[in-house]
Amino acid sequence: TEKDRYVVIGNPIAHSKSPLIHAAFAAQTGQQMDYQHLLAPLDGFAASVNAFRAQGGLGANVTVPFKLEACALATRLTPRAAAAGAVNTLQFSDTQILGDNTDGIGLVTDIVRNAGVTLHGKRILLLGAGGAARGAVLPLLEQLPAELVIANRTVARARELQQLATARMPAVPVSAYGIEAVPGHFDVVINATSASLQDAVPALPAGALDARTLAYDMMYGTQPTAFLRFAAQHGAQCRDGLGMLVEQAAEAFALWRGVRPDTAGVLQQLRAGLQSAAG
Ligand code: NDP
Repeated sequence: TEKDRYVVIGNPIAHSKSPLIHAAFAAQTGQQMDYQHLLAPLDGFAASVNAFRAQGGLGANVTVPFKLEACALATRLTPRAAAAGAVNTLQFSDTQILGDNTDGIGLVTDIVRNAGVTLHGKRILLLGAGGAARGAVLPLLEQLPAELVIANRTVARARELQQLATARMPAVPVSAYGIEAVPGHFDVVINATSASLQDAVPALPAGALDARTLAYDMMYGTQPTAFLRFAAQHGAQCRDGLGMLVEQAAEAFALWRGVRPDTAGVLQQLRAGLQSAAG
């Protein structure tokens, strides 16, 4: 029998660990599926998706730079995808293209379940207002923190996101600042900026994080990011985005296959792979 077919679509895409993760999930749950990389031309996202769907493909993960286009291509959106305005998971049927966003719930699952840190009643600082931050806002607010502060280099983008967030979840106070102006101390600081790509640390005021803080960077790699090195110097508990990557994949897998895989072993395997790559 033919295996059910899925892809991860992006540009570039060869570095993506998603095929490895989904192959491990499929083996673990006994699902007959085939999951490959698909490089789409920068001007050819919709054509690539439509061709894959016409060949019988059942679903796709979407990564940089196509998450907004995937949102536009979907004929129906889950509430969290609509709130994010970005889609990382597509599911095809004869009549529709369902768009979901599992990045934010992946982040929350990694913090709450894997790191064992509750968000309920906490003061959370979210750094960034790009695609990754937008996906995180609704799942974070659903945990009913005491307060969510959104801070971004471009303050106007933080304010836009604040307005969206307040409209969706008026029960939680949400405010917006420039990064250097955030007030007070935070229990959880999440870096959803790409500053670490330039080895830069968002310019947080003194006292924003300390030994009581969980510092979370959505980025991951063989070395700790500049943000996590900064947080460690202040004694914070540090966590990178590898767990988020595995958990967002588990949510997509659950949507497609109706079974949620166990993520702990796969996360361990990826972590070991990163460490051996670091030498
Ligand atoms: P975007 O390009 O959409 O947004 C970039 C954000 O970073 C903006 O808020 C931008 O601010 C800010 N920024 C960029 N450079 C700097 C700097 N030098 N100082 C301060 N702020 C800066 O990117 P995404 O939201 O898609 O991705 C953000 C990060 O999240 C990436 O590093 C990505 O790798 C990671 N990610 C991880 C995932 C995972 O599964 N672990 C999933 C998705 C993303 P401004 O608005 O002012 O330009």
